Amino acid sequence: MNYEAFFRSEIEGLRREGRYRIFADLERQAGRFPRATLHRDGRQVEVTVWCSNDYLGMGQHPDVLAAMHEAIERCGAGAGGTRNISGTNHYHVLLEQELADLHGKEAALLFTSGYVSNWAALTTLASRMPNCVVLSDAGNHASMIEGIRHSRAERRIFAHNDPEDLARKLADLDPERPKLVAFESVYSMDGDVAPIGELCDVADRYRAMTYLDEVHAVGLYGPRGGGVAERMGVADRLSVIEGTLGKAVGVMGGYIAGSAALCDFVRSFASGFIFTTALPPALAAGAIASIRHLKAGGALRERHQDRVARVRAGLDAAGIPHKANPSHIVPVMVGDPVRCKRLSDLLLEQHGVYVQPINYPTVPRGTERLRITPSPLHSDADIDHLLRSLTAVWSEVPLRQAA
Ligand SMILES: *Cc1c(COP(=O)(O)O)cnc(C)c1O
Repeated sequence: MNYEAFFRSEIEGLRREGRYRIFADLERQAGRFPRATLHRDGRQVEVTVWCSNDYLGMGQHPDVLAAMHEAIERCGAGAGGTRNISGTNHYHVLLEQELADLHGKEAALLFTSGYVSNWAALTTLASRMPNCVVLSDAGNHASMIEGIRHSRAERRIFAHNDPEDLARKLADLDPERPKLVAFESVYSMDGDVAPIGELCDVADRYRAMTYLDEVHAVGLYGPRGGGVAERMGVADRLSVIEGTLGKAVGVMGGYIAGSAALCDFVRSFASGFIFTTALPPALAAGAIASIRHLKAGGALRERHQDRVARVRAGLDAAGIPHKANPSHIVPVMVGDPVRCKRLSDLLLEQHGVYVQPINYPTVPRGTERLRITPSPLHSDADIDHLLRSLTAVWSEVPLRQAA
């Protein structure tokens, strides 16, 4: 086989489809969120970021930066080992307590990312419980799908956010088998929200465990930022709540929260937890500071929702189609990969507005979109500029020219 030719031809296929990915080479500027410097063709230009998952700008919050600086001075750069062999730093222990408290659970367990936490926890639970069957929402994130697949447990997919379909799938199963129902609260690309209470009702009826990914909700919803389950008052009904420290918390890492026995079980059996270096202490320190800040008050969350409402109203007034949903994610629907990329390029080149195009396989073909994520730090002027820029490029790139 000609290896190099193979790699190049596969990449050429992506280009032909208009979904070859080009990363924006950004230099974030601490204290100036959502502004960043874009490096392109040897030049530097200032852009406004409209697609960050640092939803609240906590990645630049002075409390978070101060905590990370202090932890580096005290503990140095890396953790120096796996959790078991010298790598457990006191900051990890404090952060796990902070996370357990955030979700009202007995315990929490850290991983190096949200992806790894889903992958490792679902693999371990589903493979180690004898004859386990996993009920997986059709819209679940790649990290959950991969974890379930890797477990080799039987998997049944239920219709997205559909408690009745879940009930039908559960009714088919042997009542004695262990069952795990896995779903998300806020779905990242459509921004729709699961009926968590109803799904828990069904799971309870069939004595199934529940596993909720709150990655796009932690920090953003609930009186203390505990997520949608906290806001709905149903956090205690979930066996596992999984989250990330890389989105609204603004740092990096992932975790599960649940009973002491469950977390101890995953800690003791999950390969993806055991055989990897612990997070740097400074990351844990930054996450603690961020979560404490988010627990303490809802002002940022209120401002965030206000900004989201303002963007939506402006899009409506401009006649730009966006998917309605009850969350902070604003998907402007384009429906064609080439047009989507072209709109994004023009926004960046002509208007200094950065929104990455979202294409297959992140979303189904034909539902390509610009996924806009307003933050509390986007000003009225930023929003007006976004709307003017989008309106201009929208008419400049009509759908029929795209192909
Ligand atoms: C981003 C994401 C993850 C992974 O979290 P990371 O910390 O970025 O690895 C997990 N689940 C969902 C739904 C996500 O969108």
